[in-house]
Formats: sequence, C-alpha cells, structure tokens
Amino acid sequence: MVIKNGKIVTPTQILDGYDILVQNGIIQEIGKDLYDDTMLDANGAYVTPGFVDIHTHGGYGADFMDSTEDAFEKALQFHLDNGTTTVVPTSCTSPVESIVGFLNFTRGYLRSAVANVRMVAGVHLEGPYLSVRNRGAQKEEELAVPDRDDYSYMTDYADLIKTVTISPELSGAAEMTKRLCDAGITVSGGHDDGIYPEFLPAIDAGLSHLTHHFCAMSELRFKDGIRNVGLREYALNDDRLTVELIADNRHIPPQLAKMILRAKGADKVAVVSDSLRCAGCPKDGSLYKLGADENAQLVKIGDGVAITADGEKFAGSITPVRRMVKNLIDAGIPLVDAVKTGTLTPAKIIGEDGEIGSIEVGKRANLAILNTDWELLNVLIDGKPERTI
Ligand SMILES: [Zn+2]
Repeated sequence: MVIKNGKIVTPTQILDGYDILVQNGIIQEIGKDLYDDTMLDANGAYVTPGFVDIHTHGGYGADFMDSTEDAFEKALQFHLDNGTTTVVPTSCTSPVESIVGFLNFTRGYLRSAVANVRMVAGVHLEGPYLSVRNRGAQKEEELAVPDRDDYSYMTDYADLIKTVTISPELSGAAEMTKRLCDAGITVSGGHDDGIYPEFLPAIDAGLSHLTHHFCAMSELRFKDGIRNVGLREYALNDDRLTVELIADNRHIPPQLAKMILRAKGADKVAVVSDSLRCAGCPKDGSLYKLGADENAQLVKIGDGVAITADGEKFAGSITPVRRMVKNLIDAGIPLVDAVKTGTLTPAKIIGEDGEIGSIEVGKRANLAILNTDWELLNVLIDGKPERTI
C-alpha cells in the first residue's frame, strides 16, 4: 500500500507531500510519487507514528486490572480510536494476588490471537512499593516496603514487565532497583516522599525514569533546618532520568509542561495518558472503580479529569495521548518535538524503538492520520487501516 500526499512527521522534520510505501506491515520507502495497487490518500493531513502510551489503566468503562479479554479489548479500543497503537497496561496498588492475576492474564493474552494483541508491549506495575504521603489515589493498607515485603514475583514476570514504579527513598529501594534492573525491567520513581539526597542511591543503582513527573511526587521542603529539593526539582537536572508528563492541562498546566520540556528536552519526556476506566465515558456522575478489587477506590469524571469520589484529589486522566500532544503544540512546543514525546521517546523508554515510535524505513507501519485540529482521520496497525477515508 502507498499512503499518499501526507505531511509526514519524522523525528526531525515534517516532509510535506511525501508518500509512504508499506509492504508486509513494514515501512519500505518514503519518497515522492510512489505507487502501489492499493493507495490511501491522506489529502494533505498529518501522518504521525501511532502514539505510544506507556502508562494507562483503561478506558471505555474497562480497567486492565479487570484481567478479562473483554476489558482489554474495550480499553485498547479507546486508545485505538485516539490513534494510539502501542500501550503498556498499568496496574494500580492492589493485593499481590490481584497483581499476579493481572500478570498471568496478560501473559496468556499476549500468546493469544485476538485482534489487538499487537498493541500491547508489556505491562507497568504502579506500586505497591510507594510512599504513604504521596500514594495519590492508591490505598494505604495495600502499600508495601522493599525491605519488608517480598517482590520476587516481579522478576518471575520479567519477560512481561516493562516498568515498575517504586518510591526510591523507601528502605531497601536501591537493592530492589538493582534486582529489577538486572532482570531487564525499567525502574521508575514516583508516588515518593523523598528529599535530596535520599533518592540518590536508587538512581545510582539504575532507576532511570519518573512516573508522572510533578504529580504525587516529592518537592522542595524544609528538613533538619535546611531547605532541599525533592524528586520533582532534582529530575530537571539529572540527564540519567526520563520523565512522564500527564499533559492534560489539569495535572500539568501548559506553563509547567513548557518548563519541563525546556529542562529535559523532547528526547527525555514521554507524554502518558494515565487514563482510567472512565476515559471515553460520558460525564454523568457515575462512579468508577480504580482497579478491580471489591473495595477499590471510587473515582468519577470531573472537569476534564478523573477525581476521587469525594472530589478531593486528582485520580488520573481521561485524556488520550493524541489530545495531550495537541495541548503541547497549543502551548508553543514545536510540532515535531510534541509528536516525539508521544511516540519515539516512550518507545525508547520501553526499549521498543527498533520496531515502533517513528516513521522510518524498516519500522512497523503503525501510523495515525490527523487533521490540523488534531482529530483522528485514520489509524493503521502494521499497515492495516482501521477506518476508510
Ligand atoms: Zn497511573
């Protein structure tokens, strides 16, 4: 197939009026006046890589922790309808049995032949080794401490787990970081309560990423008579760390997004939806479970964001990566950089950039076609269009 007449967004520039030749699901050539029996006319719209969302809990009423085929299909459909072609389903803090149930289900799902299985790159465990103070919408009684609570089940699923979020100042966090990194898992700091230099041993041990930077994260404060930085400020200066950004203009206002991008650069910032079950659902006052447990925290849709049932805290977002990338463009971030934060950078963080994340010869033809308002016109997985335009 040839995708004709698009504004192709590459990692470095926009190629106007170029075509993409796709064969066997792989990008074979990018050039002018290419021809094939099947042609798809982009009519001058933007052609970007399919978005890559490395932190999402669900959508369309389903949470990945429901651990059913139906739930996975619904949540993946929410992302696909927004041009996201790769996701990393994310757990929330729950009893170990629920987390292991989620891991078992996902392992089986990835071996199945269901339609959207190629969207799932692995999983992210968000907790339960998190601080009490910044646990966010996660439940206190289910939190764990590396020194006290066994985490060997994580290395048993190292084939599946892309990322684990831990609070790096917890007792035993550096040792845990080393063990997980040795197993090939990316360790991410977040939901923490540290102050410089408490989190340094974990970073020196290999912690390389931050979960939703500036949200539920330690910050500048007084301790022992001096003021010192938390993980929020520290990360701006340490090039070893990549960061996630919930660019929904609620968790992160546009001015802060610009500051983080100026400090870190688009190669170190990954936009993530952190979308909950209620993403893509009508705002009608309904209550939704965070995760799948019987006594799960309840959340509802607020003003453009998911909030806890009591209305006190943000619980996660309802905004897909596509819309977040547009928010960054509207904030004045160059389009090529904004797209990179939703595609190539997250693909690199999960080690999948050899196959996905950019429009380059040899990569999978996962593509989104978007108009100037950034509405989705079409999305392709492995060269297969999901819509007809
Ligand atoms: Zn989350």
